[in-house]
Amino acid sequence: MKKILIIHTGGTISMLEDKTTGKVSISNEHPLSGLVDYVNTYAVVEERIEFSLPSPQITPEHMLSLANTINQLLNMYDGFVITHGTDTLEETAYFLSLVLDTEKPIIVTGAMRSYNEIGSDALYNLISSVRVAISKDARKKGVLVVMNDEIHPASNVTKTSTSNIATFQSPQYGPIGIITKEKVLFHHSLLPGNAYPITSLTKKVYLLTAVSGMKGDIIQAIRYLKPDGLVIEGLGQGNLPKDVVDEIKLLIDSSIPIILVSRCYQGVVQPTYGYDGGGRQLKDMGVIFTNGLTGPKARIKLLVALEKTNDMNVLKKMFEEEIN
Ligand code: ASP
Repeated sequence: MKKILIIHTGGTISMLEDKTTGKVSISNEHPLSGLVDYVNTYAVVEERIEFSLPSPQITPEHMLSLANTINQLLNMYDGFVITHGTDTLEETAYFLSLVLDTEKPIIVTGAMRSYNEIGSDALYNLISSVRVAISKDARKKGVLVVMNDEIHPASNVTKTSTSNIATFQSPQYGPIGIITKEKVLFHHSLLPGNAYPITSLTKKVYLLTAVSGMKGDIIQAIRYLKPDGLVIEGLGQGNLPKDVVDEIKLLIDSSIPIILVSRCYQGVVQPTYGYDGGGRQLKDMGVIFTNGLTGPKARIKLLVALEKTNDMNVLKKMFEEEIN
């Protein structure tokens, strides 16, 4: 039997509901510990509690520490299942996919309803994740998110509903596999991405969403915070209100990389429009366009990338030419 390590980090999957008040909070003992009998039929499973945090409290530093733990234990297990709060689950999954260099299955899962709530998906998602982790087809697929009978790549998956169990979707390309009663079925394959192992996180990267009527003052305020990089969720195909252009130029002139994604959840950014603030003008100024990533994930990638280089041309290659 394969040997799988479950690493708990917190989130609703680690919580219980107080039946008198309805409040959901972290319990002293992990509610799924002791339920390993359910998964022992599939694999030899060991558990480890890494953190007990609601995922809004998870930081990139926690993500790096989790990656270090996985790296240290990599040779001892055939695969890993990480349980995590769903709010920032996609950021942790994508971070791990960028920094871990392994062919072994790394599965991230969570729950929308805690273990003692009616209709809980906690134990079900955990069992599904172990089943995916032991699947030979899950090898060489990078980090996968398993929720609600679906398998999603870390790069594209996002939480789409605040409370629905079917919340995790991959809006651009859909899931790459499903979990049925009988099998784990991958129906799409992934193009390989690059790994960027890092040992520290020292950079400051901000994320800004473009809105109509936005002025340069907000970017000026960010400039005063001395950023190492900025990610902007632009409009449509990658356009910005014209009043921000001068401030964008000032940042680029001081060698601060600006990564542009779209605030649309589908489609690509491309330098189509030549008007003031249009994508063509931004690209000519040196704004770096990237596709396949949401703003939060582009920010994670820039945090990681800046640990490797601050050379604009290398950053451009990493963001414009690579498959995310
Ligand atoms: N707020 C919770 C968290 O992310 C939501 C969840 O886990 O589903 O920790």
